[in-house]
Amino acid sequence: MAFKPANNIQDLQYFGEFGGVNPSISDSSTYTFLSAKTMFDTFEGNADGCYLYSRHSTPSNLYLGEALAAMEGTETANVTASGMGAITPVLLQLCGAGDHIVSSRTIYGGTYAFLKNFTPRFHIKTKFVDITKLDSVEAAITEHTKVLYCESVSNPLLEVADIEGLAALAKKYNLKLIVDNTFSPLSISPAELGADIVIHSLTKFINGSSDTVGGVVCGTQEFINDLRSVNDGACMLLGSTMDSLRAASILKNLRTLHIRMQQHSKNGLYLAEKFEADGLKTVYPGLKSHPSHDLFKRMMNPQYGFGGMLTIDVGSIETANALMEMMQHKNLGYLAVSLGFYKTLFSAPGSSTSSEIPENEQAAMGLSDGLIRFSIGLDADIERTYNMMRDCMKSLHILNS
Ligand code: PLP
Repeated sequence: MAFKPANNIQDLQYFGEFGGVNPSISDSSTYTFLSAKTMFDTFEGNADGCYLYSRHSTPSNLYLGEALAAMEGTETANVTASGMGAITPVLLQLCGAGDHIVSSRTIYGGTYAFLKNFTPRFHIKTKFVDITKLDSVEAAITEHTKVLYCESVSNPLLEVADIEGLAALAKKYNLKLIVDNTFSPLSISPAELGADIVIHSLTKFINGSSDTVGGVVCGTQEFINDLRSVNDGACMLLGSTMDSLRAASILKNLRTLHIRMQQHSKNGLYLAEKFEADGLKTVYPGLKSHPSHDLFKRMMNPQYGFGGMLTIDVGSIETANALMEMMQHKNLGYLAVSLGFYKTLFSAPGSSTSSEIPENEQAAMGLSDGLIRFSIGLDADIERTYNMMRDCMKSLHILNS
């Protein structure tokens, strides 16, 4: 039977301690033991079902982790305090001094900054490559490479990674393939396509209400145990633990993700097709003009569509800023970073979420000044939204009236 991520979430069943339809929230940082021996065994990692201390794990975090593992089709998962709180421990768990990472050059600015500016302190080097060219990826692999890193759909350029092709390279050279799937939850299932580890910033579509940060690492039981090890686990020791109250609220939001993604994707495709027909330089994986449209189609779980992220290029940062301010003024969305909200969010990545990337490198990867990244909201009447956006573009002479 085909892999059905939303069914896998629905099939989980948890009750609260008084029969509540939601699991009870574990409101404790530490747990008692009836015997000292069980406490010792738990420290050693040998007492299944016992909790020790909430930086290690909590019932609420395990419920959310299990639901996300079910969604991604991995053995288990570990939730973290933020997306960066998932990415950084994974990379530091897998790489040490002398090791090498091959990473996509178009990734979230914070991840780029971590690899470019921070990990060299630990003598971990990264080669940034065009992830859409498997031969460049292969050519960048050295005898010291431990990790291939990419986003399934990249932030902000919406390049699409060939996860099966990258997984084959990872296998050939004995590397771990890490895929950040933040932009395409449910639409793409990287582990099903061969990724070893799948990461999300839960801050975005998965939580969907822009009220918290959060992250998750989905992988094998062995790897998640390594991350949580009290002796040398990067999640345990770096301490990027999610709070139980947040885990409980994100779990409740996760249950509507399949409905939200369908609406984000429907609205995204509608606007992308209209913008392109109007002659705007539009990038959206659902457009036939997208260089990786066929690849995305091959990889996707079709009922969730091509996602809610699109970009247009309006030529200059001044025009981009004027358009975004006008759209906000007309209540068409908010001039804000982040994504996955019910309301459309827009920002110019060159001067915001990708500002960590030096200007010359932005130019080399095609990140132009006038680029606006949209996270399309859940608007009930997307035709009205389009008409109002088009009026803004006409009044700023981006489109002819
Ligand atoms: N990965 C991607 C693709 C992102 O867009 C972001 C944040 O914008 C992150 C990771 C980092 O997540 P967080 O802000 O939750 O730490």
